[in-house]
Amino acid sequence: MNKSRGKPGQKYQNREAYKFDKWRTDPKAKMLAAMQVINCCPKCTQVIEWKIQFGKYKTLTRPATCLDCKEKAVKYAYHTRCIPCVEKSKRCSKCGDSQSEFVNLPPPSDSELAKKDAEFKSELKRLPERKRRTLLRYMEKLKLDSENPENENQEAIKDKLQEYTEKYAKNDFEFDEFDDERSDVSDDSDNEDLDD
Ligand SMILES: [Zn+2]
Ligand SMILES: [Zn+2]
Repeated sequence: MNKSRGKPGQKYQNREAYKFDKWRTDPKAKMLAAMQVINCCPKCTQVIEWKIQFGKYKTLTRPATCLDCKEKAVKYAYHTRCIPCVEKSKRCSKCGDSQSEFVNLPPPSDSELAKKDAEFKSELKRLPERKRRTLLRYMEKLKLDSENPENENQEAIKDKLQEYTEKYAKNDFEFDEFDDERSDVSDDSDNEDLDD
């Protein structure tokens, strides 16, 4: 299973950063490989990235308590503040520093997503009902998958969702493409909340 074994004629080994999980294929390793450290100052981003790179990163088994709001709302290991509190205070999620800029920001906020969602729904109403239901279910499934921070394919799913959303927003979306995805989508006939 080792794909990275050097070719016989290869003279020089590629000098890559050490990756602890090169040989691992389990979901956690994949999730970590795709993970981005968000809402942290450069120093803390580096510390957490180091943990990820060297296999020292321990995922949370349940949400941790946020130092600011005291809710059990911290979803990421080593963070001490939840995402909403960080958005308010602009402090580093880990050390609380308010002077440095964050290296990586989180994906779009709920309000941005809600706006996109509303636009999307108004477009959906113009579609034939059957296509509409199928698409909506499929998108919903993608959305749920993409919101799970420990999902091994989270980034790929987000990309896919984004791709569909953009494609669709352009209004030249080819719905026949979804016929191939049918097996993923149960097409039972409940139709709640689509019609006013
Ligand atoms: Zn909080
Ligand atoms: Zn920090």
